[in-house]
Amino acid sequence: MRILVVEDEKKVAAFIAKGLREENYVVDVVYDGEEGVFMALENDYDLIVLDLMLPKLDGMEVLRRVRNNRNTVPVLILTAKDSVDDIVAGLEGGSDDYLTKPFDFAELLARIRALLRRSQDQKITILKVADLTLNPLTREVKRGDKAIELTSKEYALLEYFMRNVNRVLSRTLINEHVWNYEFDPTTNVIDVYVNYLRKKIEQGHKKKLIYTVRGAGYIMKET
Ligand code: CA
Repeated sequence: MRILVVEDEKKVAAFIAKGLREENYVVDVVYDGEEGVFMALENDYDLIVLDLMLPKLDGMEVLRRVRNNRNTVPVLILTAKDSVDDIVAGLEGGSDDYLTKPFDFAELLARIRALLRRSQDQKITILKVADLTLNPLTREVKRGDKAIELTSKEYALLEYFMRNVNRVLSRTLINEHVWNYEFDPTTNVIDVYVNYLRKKIEQGHKKKLIYTVRGAGYIMKET
């Protein structure tokens, strides 16, 4: 599950990102509305945490632009108490919610989970690269008709690759997204896991899916 946090107060953004990463969400953080719109439209997020008072574009404008692109990603708005009435009218029931500042992390997490559950009930997006498929809801991974068993880290790594097809992923990016800074990046843990994953998804198949990009990292692509 991948979450975008758009929040200009760096302390608040860091607090949210840290907490969500501890819950095994993959988190991207940006600090203004323009970046927020760009990232939201560029990437496939499962949810956006959106502050209302932002530099460049305010939160409601960010939400409007995202929705104008027929993007139905669930959005949780963070707002001060006195502007609640103004925003409620602009929210879509079912896909948006709001939380007033200051908030407890537990409350934020509960709202996020509720929004994710609602959106998952509405649509299950199966990720597909060549004949490899991954269902983020059931966590089923298949190559053709054959189910593949993965450990939780291998699964997280594969989901990250499949959500970033045709993009070179550096070890630093992979570390940030999949390991959440849990280990010393000078070790070769990532290479070891990429090799485990390759064995499981490529062995017995002619078509390779993950390639090494010398000096840069790895890329998943269909050739
Ligand atoms: Ca703000």
